Amino acid sequence: MKKPSPLIDPFNRTISYLRVSVTDRCDFRCVYCMSEKMQFLPKKDLLTLEELDKVCSVFIDMGIRKIRVTGGEPLVRRNILSFFQAISRHLISGKLSELTLTTNGSQLARFAQPLVDLGMERVNISLDTLDSEKFKRITRWGRLDQVLKGIKAAKSAGLRIKINTVALRKTNEEELHKFVQWCGDEGFDLTFIEVMPMGDFGSEDRLDQYWSLKDLRTELTKKWTLEDLDISTGGPARYVRVRETQQKIGFITPLTHNFCESCNRVRLTCTGQLFMCLGQEEDADLRSALRANSENDELLRNRIRNAVDRKPKGHDFDYSRQKILGQMPRYMSHTGG
Ligand code: SAM
Ligand code: SF4
Repeated sequence: MKKPSPLIDPFNRTISYLRVSVTDRCDFRCVYCMSEKMQFLPKKDLLTLEELDKVCSVFIDMGIRKIRVTGGEPLVRRNILSFFQAISRHLISGKLSELTLTTNGSQLARFAQPLVDLGMERVNISLDTLDSEKFKRITRWGRLDQVLKGIKAAKSAGLRIKINTVALRKTNEEELHKFVQWCGDEGFDLTFIEVMPMGDFGSEDRLDQYWSLKDLRTELTKKWTLEDLDISTGGPARYVRVRETQQKIGFITPLTHNFCESCNRVRLTCTGQLFMCLGQEEDADLRSALRANSENDELLRNRIRNAVDRKPKGHDFDYSRQKILGQMPRYMSHTGG
């Protein structure tokens, strides 16, 4: 069979990275991500695990080389291991070069070893604080000790770990240096993320939480020597190496830097909407294509190609003038962070 041509968007960016949200549900309710009383989507709207496998396999056939599974909390979806198992056949065949995960860590004590057995090599674990009281305040429902056990299990299973930390003024500001030291001692890379204007919270809340990474970086340099690294992953992070610990620190500053020129990714929601850009409304409905004809992939392939042809040049987030412009109405847990 003729090999399909790669997915190239109108700005000549090759799309090789797919983020897949497998559920909008979560066992935490982080203040910057969800409201306390979340209304989750009806089950019938979610893609089944078989549909997720099908759509990912078609993407892989069209040139996707890396898949990151996210959510919601991906590891709370029932039978999620069977999905990882199904996708791992593409790692074995060599068509997929990486299958990875973004998780809050709560279920890793159970899942770390099985995931390694299926070929996973690294994970991103979200953790904003090492203080159990603060952790409770941020996640509302989470327990720090459970997450630390999960992180320990992931490390023992041999997974490389990157910690994702949302920079929160007046919350994790005071423990910045301790946090960097802990990651360095454990051998974890670390990425700081600026709070993004997602969901339906008032802009007031966001501005109160917002801690610019420019300020965070200035604070870091008071204790650590940061050496700029010239790494491009096609993503929004800029990297430095901390001379004292040799760990890599990334800064995701979607609101203060334009990272869009090198964007190589698209995002699939748990309901089968394909978003070409995290900060734009434009989407494509892959679920109806999946459900229209399960025998033939042509409709699905055409819809994917057509969507990539509409990938916008960039996003419109802007915190300037103390007002959030370009605020998105959808939740990160639905789109997949
Ligand atoms: N539940 C998993 C987790 O927490 O890692 C995966 C999904 S979560 C939506 C993915 C990432 O998005 C997490 O690192 C989280 O901190 C980040 N996130 C959620 N809401 C955010 C926001 N408003 N601004 C910036 N990052 C956010
Ligand atoms: Fe759940 Fe992750 Fe959102 Fe926190 S950031 S509520 S862990 S999906």
